[in-house]
Amino acid sequence: MIDVRDVTKIHRRGSVEVHALRGVTCQIPTGSFAFIVGPSGSGKSTLLYLLGALDEPSSGGIEVNGLSLGSMTTARRDQFRREEVGFIFQNFNLLANLSAVDNVLAPFLPRGVPKAQRDEAQRLLETLGLGDRLHHRPNQLSGGEQQRVAIARALLKRPKLVLADEPTGELDTENSVAILSALRVLCREQGSTVVIVTHEREYIDPSDCVIRIRDGRVAS
Ligand code: ADP
Ligand code: MG
Repeated sequence: MIDVRDVTKIHRRGSVEVHALRGVTCQIPTGSFAFIVGPSGSGKSTLLYLLGALDEPSSGGIEVNGLSLGSMTTARRDQFRREEVGFIFQNFNLLANLSAVDNVLAPFLPRGVPKAQRDEAQRLLETLGLGDRLHHRPNQLSGGEQQRVAIARALLKRPKLVLADEPTGELDTENSVAILSALRVLCREQGSTVVIVTHEREYIDPSDCVIRIRDGRVAS
């Protein structure tokens, strides 16, 4: 269970304060497929970053499976981010000079990659329909293919929590459907909790958990 309690977030840009979240309380059950929806600028990305401990709330608290992110040591929080969270960013964040398979392995390259892990990265790319693109670089891939590489990278560590910021924002319907179904398979087969920020309500099933954000507050 992800338990968000009365979380506020004030972004400071110079002397300007932006109240991105104004007291958000919500719960996301473990293993659920969840969406955060709402107008542009309502605080969706801010909330997603806080769930992944990529940023800290200004007040309030977040617990993940009973562990308070705010009271973790820096080392434990780094470990949580690195080992338990798979983040899929809006702009893919691929490295231009690496092949698809090396991009999937990128978080592990500094420590050295055993053959089994390289095989697993290839298998993931094949599962996502990129078996014939393993050695292509990002600029040789379409937007949908790049996004699937980013997804494979997030999934390689078998994260308990997958956070995706508008993963289909710039993709056509066919690619969007493929990405959503890959994430649903992961949720079902690995029991991962998946939280997706989206504008596209047509991908939401009646059984999904939906958090509506408006002006930094939960609307429903
Ligand atoms: P959404 O993802 O719903 O579009 P965001 O969470 O990105 O909304 O942003 C919420 C508000 O906070 C917006 O007004 C945005 O301009 C502001 N904001 C987001 N990130 C920062 C930041 N790093 N510095 C200053 N303001 C920010
Ligand atoms: Mg956003």
